[in-house]
Amino acid sequence: MWVAGADLAGAGKVEAVRNPATEEPLAEVPSASPQQVDAAVEAARAALAGWRRTPAGERGELLHGVAAWLREQADELGRLMTLEGGKPLVENTDEVGWTANAFAYYAELGRHERGRVIPSVEEGQLSLVLKEPVGVVAAIVPWNYPLLLLAWKLAPALAAGNTVVVKPSPYTPLSTLRLAEAFAGFPDGVVNLVAGGAEVGEALVVHGGTDMVAFTGSVATGQRIGVLCAEQVKRTHLELGGKDAFIVCDDVDLEVAAPGAAWAAYLNAGQVCTSAERFYVLEPVFDEFVDRLVEETRRLRLGDPLVATTDIGPMVAEVQRARVERQLDQARRAGARVLAGGDHGGFERGWFLAPTVVVEVDDSMDLLRTETFGPVAPVQRVGSLDEAIARANALPYGLGANVYTHRLENVLRCTEELQAGTVWFNDPLTDNDAGPFGGMKMSGNARELGPEGLESFRETKHVHLDGRANRKPWWYPYGQES
Ligand code: NAD
Repeated sequence: MWVAGADLAGAGKVEAVRNPATEEPLAEVPSASPQQVDAAVEAARAALAGWRRTPAGERGELLHGVAAWLREQADELGRLMTLEGGKPLVENTDEVGWTANAFAYYAELGRHERGRVIPSVEEGQLSLVLKEPVGVVAAIVPWNYPLLLLAWKLAPALAAGNTVVVKPSPYTPLSTLRLAEAFAGFPDGVVNLVAGGAEVGEALVVHGGTDMVAFTGSVATGQRIGVLCAEQVKRTHLELGGKDAFIVCDDVDLEVAAPGAAWAAYLNAGQVCTSAERFYVLEPVFDEFVDRLVEETRRLRLGDPLVATTDIGPMVAEVQRARVERQLDQARRAGARVLAGGDHGGFERGWFLAPTVVVEVDDSMDLLRTETFGPVAPVQRVGSLDEAIARANALPYGLGANVYTHRLENVLRCTEELQAGTVWFNDPLTDNDAGPFGGMKMSGNARELGPEGLESFRETKHVHLDGRANRKPWWYPYGQES
């Protein structure tokens, strides 16, 4: 671990990290003990006064340094992420690049402004809206994009002058702990990295020394964090699960929409918070869409994520695969038909699940109601765009939504009516550093990326200045002629 600018061996419970493609042990990582969690928070608190006073330009230089380090280490980090997480190497190397971009973006945005000047109430006055750091931020992240989702918190938090204690997922701690080297040039305690599972996360959440919890993970954990933080009125920044709808209208080129659908459903073995998990296809193109999706699905290569030609690697852990299989079994028992996949793709070792197309599904099935987080595409026929929008909005999730259409009228309706933090037309799942990312409804209460992502980590202070310091006519005593 990395605490107060020095390496620290965890003194808590040891967590085994396994290679999901082979099930072989990769490393044993000792968690932070309760005393070490305290030490990390104390280090962040001690560093706060100096870091918030550090000129934004200097902070930006340091963040650019992190971006440069990441680019230099992209191959090694990508390989490590592949070994511990199972995502195909190309996707991990891309992730390191996007992580570097996020640091570079906030290095600049953090030195662009610190608030605004507003019209004063009277002449002779100046009114400022100042932006300040929130304080010590606990950043708790999942395993599916371990460095990227961390950067979306860490980079804006640091750019805004906060200090941070980071906790990665126990499935993927290795790449995150490796980042210590990237922060070696920062003042001690500005960034602290601690390992561990739920108990270490929760210790950070309830700690009196943390001012904010920035969390990406499941709805259930987010709800628990929300409840714990409410007791201290601690600020939360929650990026939670989704069940994204993917609408295919009848005016599109299915040669493009079907492979687009496959990518949106199966990327990272479906373990993306914005994976497409419900397909609503307009009646006239339903049969052809399903045929093409099945054909595309059967073509995909499941296998060793270190091999360059592998499209889909294993899922991260046996429990994650078992959860998806339970949803599939339940749907099958209730009448769903699996047209492709649905098995382990011939692998006896490794937590592989073949990409799966399912039809004859209905909204009573868990597969259509709760997050799946696996490579499964359930496809349903809809009679109209009205029906597709109504069904997309029917669940309590609101992270992302995808629509394939060329018709302007459809685009405008979906733009206005879909309840999702991001709506993608004809280009699924593309992120943009300048475009805010996050969920509506139970998918979260925050935005990352863009100026909104910086704002999430800033406190607001209104400063009212009167240069004259004169006595005001509305003060006491009342009812007197002035
Ligand atoms: P998770 O909620 O199980 O764990 C996330 C992190 O929280 C891990 O580091 C874990 O150790 C920690 N944690 C667990 N219990 C805790 C507690 N009680 N207090 C504090 N920390 C605790 O989620 P996961 O399985 O790691 O990730 C998958 C989930 O993340 C999916 O639901 C997915 O949709 C969601 N996700 C959301 C986004 C987004 O931006 N909205 C992005 C990626 C993943």
